[in-house]
Amino acid sequence: MKIGILGAGQLAKMLALAGYPLGIEFAFYAFGPEPKSSVAPIWRHQANANTLQDFMHSVDVITYETENIDSALLAIIAENKPVFPSLEALLTSQDRLQEKALFEKLDIPTTHYIPIDSVAELTQAAQQLSYPFFIKQRSGGYDGKGQQKIDHAEQLQQQDLSGLCKAAIVEAAVPFTQEVSMVATRDQKGTIVYYDLSVNQHQQGILVYAHNLEKHPALTAMARHYMQQVLMALDYVGTLAIEFFVCENQLIANEMSPRVHNSGHWTMQAAVTCQFENHIRAITGLPLGASHSYQQAVMFNLLGKIPEKAQLLSIPNLHLYDYQKTARAKRKMGHVIIADAKISLSGCQAQLAPWLELST
Ligand code: AMP
Repeated sequence: MKIGILGAGQLAKMLALAGYPLGIEFAFYAFGPEPKSSVAPIWRHQANANTLQDFMHSVDVITYETENIDSALLAIIAENKPVFPSLEALLTSQDRLQEKALFEKLDIPTTHYIPIDSVAELTQAAQQLSYPFFIKQRSGGYDGKGQQKIDHAEQLQQQDLSGLCKAAIVEAAVPFTQEVSMVATRDQKGTIVYYDLSVNQHQQGILVYAHNLEKHPALTAMARHYMQQVLMALDYVGTLAIEFFVCENQLIANEMSPRVHNSGHWTMQAAVTCQFENHIRAITGLPLGASHSYQQAVMFNLLGKIPEKAQLLSIPNLHLYDYQKTARAKRKMGHVIIADAKISLSGCQAQLAPWLELST
């Protein structure tokens, strides 16, 4: 069995590393420049006229590590090979309007939003919202890109927002107390396994850390219910993440990602079967593994650079994942997971304090 993964970044790599012990082989289809390192053969998009055909014919099933891929390309692929998650799941998550329409259809609370297409429509929408609010492009954004927080009316005059306002939404800022996500996997028979609720901290739109340290039984039950609704509505196969704001003990859905997710990386060291392995099992028709946590874990993203490894690894219960990417300010270069039977967030932060600078 050989899986083709669209994308050749760290998520593709971690999927392959989780699949090799199961005797599964991999091929990556890269859209950008050749990555610095790879754990599977790489097919470069449009390297020649036959690349896509050759890639498709070399694999049995296809998945993707990013929702920022051309849906027309995925449609061609889906005519030739099984693709999981489905084209419908990709299309829904590619467009914030469609995503919100799905949440609303399923009675999942989501943020108050207004679609806009121009600065004039932004000005109109601003009159219906209080400050601050967010302008978000409907498609293509990630890690806080393609969106901007607007704190006061003068900002609308001072800044040229015409580019951002095309095919966008404005969204009320949610006065959340916490951000959390639910990651779950559904197999081809419809069985679903849910991971523990992940508590997430973002800074400037980028995930800084995520952990399973807090038990929130009521929120977990709510998140699982919403997750189940989405998985069933899309007849979803694979791992899915839904991010929520916690507001007055209720969940407000922010967005979903039809793939393994950064806020699920702690499952590599704390869940019986991690999100990557369960995604592989789901798309290859294998039964899913147990998803509950057997210990506590905090995942910290390494942004901008990989710190000195010997020093990092002198922390005994720390595991390092170096993506071997070219360094760029705030780029996700790797992550660490501190895992043990009992740990505290402040203890982990104190251990990592010298290295956890957001900007370099
Ligand atoms: P997103 O790309 O929509 O996931 O946004 C990235 C991050 O920006 C979120 O995880 C929040 O920390 C923040 N953010 C986005 N939208 C809102 C909102 N409507 N209210 C408050 N914070 C938000």
